[in-house]
Amino acid sequence: MYSIFVIAILGALIGSFANVVIYRVPAGKSIVFPPSSCPNCGHKIKPWENIPVISWLFLRGKCSSCKNLISFRYPLIEMITALGFGLLAWRWPIEDYGFTVIPLVIIFAMLVMMSMIDIDTLLLPDSLTLPAILVGILGTFIYAETSGLPTLSQALIGGAIGAGIIALINRVGSLVVRRFADTKERLWPLGMDQVNVAAVGGALGGWTWGLGAAAASMIINLLTRKVIRLPELIIYALWVVALLVSSLGTFISPISGISGTFMATGIVSIVGAIFWWFREMASKEPLPEEEDDEPVAMGFGDVKLAAVLGVILGWQQLLVALFLSFLLGAVGGIASRLAGGDRLIPFGPYLALSGLLALFFGQNLIQWYMGLLGLGG
Ligand SMILES: [Zn+2]
Repeated sequence: MYSIFVIAILGALIGSFANVVIYRVPAGKSIVFPPSSCPNCGHKIKPWENIPVISWLFLRGKCSSCKNLISFRYPLIEMITALGFGLLAWRWPIEDYGFTVIPLVIIFAMLVMMSMIDIDTLLLPDSLTLPAILVGILGTFIYAETSGLPTLSQALIGGAIGAGIIALINRVGSLVVRRFADTKERLWPLGMDQVNVAAVGGALGGWTWGLGAAAASMIINLLTRKVIRLPELIIYALWVVALLVSSLGTFISPISGISGTFMATGIVSIVGAIFWWFREMASKEPLPEEEDDEPVAMGFGDVKLAAVLGVILGWQQLLVALFLSFLLGAVGGIASRLAGGDRLIPFGPYLALSGLLALFFGQNLIQWYMGLLGLGG
């Protein structure tokens, strides 16, 4: 069981790297060069000053050169990653589950980075969310069979449903609560219109219909070389009608309609996100900011984060995670208001925390709930 200790130490080192990522990625700086230096005096941090937690304690939280205070946040993040890595290695020991824990600790480290960046900037960078989805999918090839973690198909369904639920909350919520300005960029050939069309198609005929509808609408965009815009209010009125039609169960089962609308919306959202991420990397200057990119409590960064959770949890535990995140988010929001805060609190950290809780306790919570309903064994 000494592997737990080794992985926890590794976690502290990765936590030290996470501090660099959290600081540099939002600023658009390289995470490799130059080596870390004191932000106050520029003093190059020596290797012995860079030992996780220990150096901070030794230096009494001060720069060795200018005695400027080093934030407690740095050792805190190193301790959190060490603890998270250790807990994951304790739950899925290498001795019993092989390398099952490896993809999980990578995703854990990425969740820590995403949460801190979201707290700092109200944005979740694509360069973290999208690769984390890939790590979760690849992880299914590594997990031991007895690990209780999702298979490839369970991961894909979980990821699609996670992205779809948050995307639909974002689109429908924006119609009800606050009208987002129509997006000016990132529409052709694949954008928000295709996400909306996928929702309607999926609700009417299942996820394959949703994907078909989105593909058809994208092909029309490509052929006409124009963006055919469809008013969202009308699309989502149609969506409600489609859900009502499928709830009658004459055409497809109500379950296929619900899962179909979430899955199709989620898949199109993630495929679109990947497309635009590559477009952005390929273009020399950054693409103009989409108006949806203005900070909102639950934006499209959370859609991608929910997909990360879906691929490591599968859809059942994902639903537990989403439920917990809404609960924690509501409690956190009320607590912040009571404390007199008026800063917009990002939803990402609540999602990440709830995903980790569901990873450890989701199965127990589902069994407990089924027991309450008298469905458990
Ligand atoms: Zn200094």
